[in-house]
Amino acid sequence: MTIMVTGGAGYIGSHTVAELLEHGEEVVVIDNLGLGHEEAVRALNVPFYHFDIRDRDALVHVMRSHTIESVVHFAAYSQVGESVRVPLTYYQNNVAGTAELLAAMVEAGVMRIVFSSTAATYGEPEAIPIGENHPKRPTNPYGETKLAIERMLYWCYSAYGMQSISLRYFNAAGAHPTLPIGEHHMHETHLIPLLLQTALGVRSHFTVFGNDYPTADGSCIRDYIHVMDLASAHRLALKRLRHRVVGAEAFNLGIGTGYSVFDVIHAARAVTKREIHYLVGERRSGDPAVLVASSDLAKVALKWEPKYQDLASIIESAWNWHLHHPDGFRD
Ligand code: UDP
Repeated sequence: MTIMVTGGAGYIGSHTVAELLEHGEEVVVIDNLGLGHEEAVRALNVPFYHFDIRDRDALVHVMRSHTIESVVHFAAYSQVGESVRVPLTYYQNNVAGTAELLAAMVEAGVMRIVFSSTAATYGEPEAIPIGENHPKRPTNPYGETKLAIERMLYWCYSAYGMQSISLRYFNAAGAHPTLPIGEHHMHETHLIPLLLQTALGVRSHFTVFGNDYPTADGSCIRDYIHVMDLASAHRLALKRLRHRVVGAEAFNLGIGTGYSVFDVIHAARAVTKREIHYLVGERRSGDPAVLVASSDLAKVALKWEPKYQDLASIIESAWNWHLHHPDGFRD
């Protein structure tokens, strides 16, 4: 029995594939390579199908020919700012694409799915730490599309008995400890890669998006979670789906500790032992001041415990990737 991973050539997808293979699972990857990297799939040495999840017939064919038992679904667009500029592209790829995937699953009789969701489903937090029952009022189309998919999964449970676990990630960072895979976005917008590229001299400086937030040092606070800890949560969610009837569940994934942008800059300087020049700029629109997860439910239900508990070890892992792959997958 084999697991289908959509978006397995992307950042969190490829690390999850590595984790599943390391635990003896059989995996096939589906990716349209719009954002993913063929080099990542090559490094994983896993059966790979290059097509879009909106191709329902191709999905059904792969599900039947590989006797797929479960799907882990990452394939999506995930840039908040871009989603505000081109919302329909996000609805077409994320929502309509997932509808095709779920229709293919129903047609092929595959009834288990782990879904890559996000803290962006909550919107502006009313209380910290954020628990799963926090109100869900996304402040951008990206979060809206992920929430719409979670609701779609609920209705697929109601109508077809499909079993799903949605995992709401906080800020993913870091890289695989040994394989040549890591974080590489065509247009980088994330804090830790930007800081490390600045340390490497790929960028001249870094811009802090606002120092007038109501936090101790005025910069935004986030919960940074190592990508291998996210990967292990997907493996444990699959295990839970195999052993239980769960309906449609959702769990937060974070370490439960918040770090400010200045904390991350200081930690990145300490890890890299290099200067990282920065300027303080304007706030980025849509950035909440503080996002920190409560992951107690995941710890109990999945028996999940993040291994990378401190910021320095997460940055060290990301630095190891950036130092050896300063151009990401291009070198
Ligand atoms: N950030 C920043 N400058 C940048 C990119 C990000 O100050 O060039 C801040 C951003 O405002 C947020 C934190 O770093 O508070 C993490 O941002 P990222 O884009 O990595 O993840 P997000 O929180 O948006 O998911």
